[in-house]
Amino acid sequence: MNQLMLRTAAHCGRWTAVNQTIRTNSDMAEFREIFSKARHIAVITGAGDLATPECFSRHPSRVWEFYHYRRELSLNAQPSPAHRAIAECEARLSRQGRSLVVITQNIDELHQRAGSRHVLEVHGNLFQTRCLSCKDVEINHKSPICPSLEGKGCDEKGCDGLLRPHVIWFGETLDSQILTKVEKELETCDLCLVVGTSSVVYPAAMFGPQVASRGVPVAEFNTKMTVNTPRFKFHFPGRCAVTLPAALARHESEII
Ligand SMILES: [Zn+2]
Repeated sequence: MNQLMLRTAAHCGRWTAVNQTIRTNSDMAEFREIFSKARHIAVITGAGDLATPECFSRHPSRVWEFYHYRRELSLNAQPSPAHRAIAECEARLSRQGRSLVVITQNIDELHQRAGSRHVLEVHGNLFQTRCLSCKDVEINHKSPICPSLEGKGCDEKGCDGLLRPHVIWFGETLDSQILTKVEKELETCDLCLVVGTSSVVYPAAMFGPQVASRGVPVAEFNTKMTVNTPRFKFHFPGRCAVTLPAALARHESEII
């Protein structure tokens, strides 16, 4: 984690030097003006994850216990006003022929449960398993996931492989198909929102700056500034549950 953050910080240092002309502001009226004209909005959300593949191979049952706990927490959690504002905005814009995509490091499915339809999960999903032998990925919402790992292998015919959570761990490569889709969204969006602590863990930490380097407005929503804040046009400090619904609410120019 520390190494990751240092690497990100070093990476960011170079960018900051290049982009010093940007003066970040918190002008919601200006943001709303840009929002009302945006056709393709990318919303980047979520923080990184910390388990490691080595950890799993040494202690699969302990890692599963941890993910079981996180699954139960997620199943009992409700989407926040921020999740709901993003989902509602996507539904509204799609009726107007505009789009909103969520690019998330979250693995808890709360965006989908709030109603978001176009979600790219760069760190996988808590409610999917992947077989270590045949790589088969299955959706799994069982609660509890299983009484113990004893005798609980892959369901695929002829394979009895060990299942692991289908999430990205420290040091693992992100899914290239997902990343290709993410790249396309980052290249085509005309407004980008960075929500929460997305600016901390690499590579998602570079998504916002990559959009900003094309001259596209990027707005950061979180409680405190990050190393990336100086590269963005907007920074709206405060709780996303408060700031996002206001930012994404229907604009007076929207007629549908
Ligand atoms: Zn299998």
